[in-house]
Amino acid sequence: IIQLDNIIKRFYIGEPNELQILNGISLSVEEGEFLSIVGESGSGKSTLMNVIGILDRPTEGNYILDGVDINAAKDNELSKIRNQRIGFVFQTYNLVSKTTALKNVELPMLYGGKRKKERIERAKELLDLVGIGERMKHKPEELSGGQKQRVAIARAMANNPSIILADEPTGALDSQTGRMVMDLFHKLNKEQGKTIVLITHSNELAEETGRIITIKDGSVKNERKGGIDL
Ligand code: ATP
Ligand code: MG
Repeated sequence: IIQLDNIIKRFYIGEPNELQILNGISLSVEEGEFLSIVGESGSGKSTLMNVIGILDRPTEGNYILDGVDINAAKDNELSKIRNQRIGFVFQTYNLVSKTTALKNVELPMLYGGKRKKERIERAKELLDLVGIGERMKHKPEELSGGQKQRVAIARAMANNPSIILADEPTGALDSQTGRMVMDLFHKLNKEQGKTIVLITHSNELAEETGRIITIKDGSVKNERKGGIDL
């Protein structure tokens, strides 16, 4: 479902300098996989995630996402592909603070052109799924970190994407709350067949996922099977 072929990412930091952050990463992810990406701070994990999530184009290399050649896609097509096929979860939740949990979950569907009645129905369903239906009228500031992350996961699911990309989703949570978030990911992976790519600093959490990719200095350093029984 994700096929990266020799991906290079450079950032221009003013002529003649440029920084090469990804040094030729090749990675294939099958539909329904739950895999994790680990590596030191600054190794390029989030940069890679931005490429996978087509928030950023690679400088060089091919990327096929869900059968779509991303290099060949026009800029104005990318946001649509992203909105339909990928759900994002971040360490800092990235919710819209001024509005309710329900509206936050509705947002990707609004961009997707869904009607209001359907949006609300689906958003409620998703908030129930992540166990926070009774808080749907609350704004993010009235929710705990774990509750905010539940809302963010519901939002990531809004357009029924095939892939969920989670960049350090438990980084701001205590271990018990982080456990809850991981359990949710396992559930979405097992019961709904979502492909999940998790970036984490926790080796313990990474071990739970089916495959662990270690990134070092912008390259894949190691890859091994995980999937310990919980
Ligand atoms: P962390 O674990 O701390 O989140 P990371 O592995 O996610 O680290 P990245 O955020 O991918 O690391 O950053 C990798 C390197 O790329 C860093 O040295 C960073 O400064 C650099 N970098 C990232 N984005 C840019 C940019 N837009 N312009 C220039 N350099 C960048
Ligand atoms: Mg990062």
